[in-house]
This record gives sequence, structure tokens and C-alpha cells, in this order.
Amino acid sequence: MPKNILITGGAGYIGSHTVLQLLLCGFKATIIDNLDNSSEIAVTRVKELAGQFGSNLIFYKIDLRNKPALEKIFASTNFDAVIHFAGLKAVGESVRKPLLYYNNNIIGTINLIEVMGAHGCKKLVFSSSATVYGWPKEVPCTEDFPIAATNPYGRTKLFIEEICCDVYRADSEWKIILLRYFNPIGAHPSGHIGEDPNGIPNNLMPFVQQVAVGRRPALTVFGKDYKTKDGTGVRDYIHVVDLSDGHIAALRKLFDSNIGCEVYNLGTGKGTSVLEMVAAFEKASGKKIPLVMAERRPGDTETVYASTKKAELELNWKAKYGIDEMCRDQWNWANKNPYGYGGPDSAI
Ligand code: NAD
Ligand code: UDP
Repeated sequence: MPKNILITGGAGYIGSHTVLQLLLCGFKATIIDNLDNSSEIAVTRVKELAGQFGSNLIFYKIDLRNKPALEKIFASTNFDAVIHFAGLKAVGESVRKPLLYYNNNIIGTINLIEVMGAHGCKKLVFSSSATVYGWPKEVPCTEDFPIAATNPYGRTKLFIEEICCDVYRADSEWKIILLRYFNPIGAHPSGHIGEDPNGIPNNLMPFVQQVAVGRRPALTVFGKDYKTKDGTGVRDYIHVVDLSDGHIAALRKLFDSNIGCEVYNLGTGKGTSVLEMVAAFEKASGKKIPLVMAERRPGDTETVYASTKKAELELNWKAKYGIDEMCRDQWNWANKNPYGYGGPDSAI
């Protein structure tokens, strides 16, 4: 019998790619998403890309904070595990609206865990973030580094990690994997699904992509005086398809072994600067990206990249793609969908 997986936030950027990989691997998938930061078109495209497996996908437009609706779904279906992506993720917005972030991310997660527990579904993969490493004392970041938060968004990740560990401590039937993503970029190689942020993108590559298609005049580079190879910030960019495969590896770990609550980094272990990313994207797209050099962005860190050893050893997972492939696929998506899932009217 194929395993049945519930994916919260499955219409979003990472969720849609992961649902596709799950379907292609033979899993049954049910998405819950309130479409707050996503489009149902992504779900339709995932179904199409999955071909004969597309019929194994069910979608519910539901908010995780609607507990009766969640109860109803769990009462009608037995899930073998849950991958929990749903959450708000814009750092700047979280500073302006902390209660919105605590309400959505924390209450949504508590509801989910309560309903899962009540229905005996005690296997969970949670989307955490490298943001919990703050400004790390050294690199690469290993999973045993102290964790910290510099903004409400990061604090929701930190709190949820702790909540998950407490849930396991109280009931050892739970198996929970906390995945700390580094910087997911790129898109499915088909170019049919990808990242489509609302409003002005906060993250580097969605911004670069909008410059390339003519939606914005130039990229503002935040900081040129970091102690890095060229003065710009260094991050660990990971192809979203590699990241998605990391979730399948995590699920297999939950099904096949006796773990409790464990944390794994999902990154490539390689650091790339802003200017190096821009150069790689220019090469992949053939487009010139005009730059405006500016001050550091408040709250930004200098250099962050992952130690990948634990995931390699224990999840048997390793990223396959490099930045050239990430930029190629990002450009393919942007070129085919310059306005994401919407039209020019939906763009700001
Ligand atoms: P995304 O915004 O594209 O996807 C999140 C999805 O969750 C959206 O489709 C949104 O509509 C849905 N959602 C939000 N609140 C909900 C609620 N209360 N009920 C139901 N659905 C809800 O974001 P993403 O980039 O795919 O990120 C997925 C997860 O990974 C998030 O938890 C995010 O914090 C985490 N993460 C992302 C990154 C990144 O750079 N993209 C890095 C580290 C961690
Ligand atoms: N960055 C930039 N201009 C932008 C967006 C980001 O120079 O418009 C830089 C940012 O300062 C950081 C890197 O790109 O050094 C990655 O930023 P992003 O927000 O994508 O990821 P995070 O900082 O959360 O790791």
C-alpha cells in the first residue's frame, strides 16, 4: 500500500516541489493550504507534471488554525506522516506584525500536532531554517550549534523546534524530524512550477529574476564591506529539487528507523557570495543584471553555510546540483512565467 502523506503549505514554493517528488516516488499526497501566499495553479501544474501519479493528489483549501476543518480531514483519512511547510516567512513583515506570525505559525502548528496526536498520526517533518543559527560563531554550521533568533519569524522556528522536542519528550511514540533549510532557490527543470512571491521579493534570487524579466530596474546589493571574498554576503544556496528530495529521505528515516526528535541541515555545504550568484545568473540567462551597491541590510549575517555530514550519514541524502543548474532552472521558470502564476496585473 502506498504511504499517505499530508502536506501543509503544499501549494507553496517548497511544498509544491516536494509534493511532485512525493507523487513521482509513489506516495499518496494530500495538501492543506489556505493559499495565503500561493496559487491553486501550482497544484494543478503539479498534478499535470506527475502524469499517471497525478490522481494520487488531493487538495483542501483550509487554514491550519481552523481546527474543526482539520479534525474533519483527519477523521476521514489515515495519514502515515505529515510534512509541515505551512507558515508565514517574510522576516521584515514579522518585525512589523509579530502577533500575526505567532498566531499563524505557532497556533497553526499546535493545532496540527494536537489533531495528529488525537488521530494517532505521530510522524512529522517540520520546515525549520538556518535562521536559527543567527550570526554563527564559525562555519560550517553543525546541528549542535546554539540556536538563537533575531526576529519574530526566526523565533517562531525556534519555538516550534522546542515545542516538537517537548512533544517527543512527553510521548516517545512521536518521531519528528526538524529540517533546517539553508537558501532554497531554482525551480523544477520543466519550468512549470517555481517561486512566485507576493509583492517586492525579500530574497536575492526572486529579486534577480524579476530584474532579468524587466519587472525591476536593478538589484540592490546589501553590503559590500563584509569580510568575505568580494565583500558581499555568503550563503549556502540549494536547488529546490534537492531540498524536496531531502524530505523524501527524512520520511524514509521516519518510517524505517527508531529516531525520536532529530534535526538535520539541508544545504550543499558550499558558500557563494551575492556577486558570484549574480554572475552565475547572468551566464545562465544571458541577461545583464544592473547593480546598486548599498549599505548592509539590518539583521543580515556575513557568512552562513551548512555542515552536510549528519544528513549524508543518517539520511543518506546529499545535494546533487550546483549553482549553475540552480540559475539555469530559475531562469527557465522566470522566462516561461515572467509574472509567476498570475498575469502582469497581479504584479506589484
Ligand atoms: P511559501 O510561502 O511559498 O509556502 C508556505 C505555504 O503555506 C503557502 O502556500 C501559504 O499559503 C501556506 N500557509 C501559510 N499559513 C498557512 C495556514 N495558517 N494554513 C494553511 N496554509 C498556510 O513558502 P516556502 O518558501 O515554500 O516555505 C515553506 C516553509 O519552509 C515555511 O515554513 C518557511 O518558513 C520554511 N523555510 C523557507 C525558506 C525559504 O527560503 N523559502 C528557508 C527556510 C525555511
Ligand atoms: N541580498 C541582496 N539584495 C537583495 C536581497 C538579498 O544583496 O535584494 C543579499 C543579502 O544581503 C544576503 C544574500 O543576498 O547576503 C541572501 O539574502 P536572502 O534574503 O535571499 O537570504 P538570507 O539572508 O535570509 O539568508
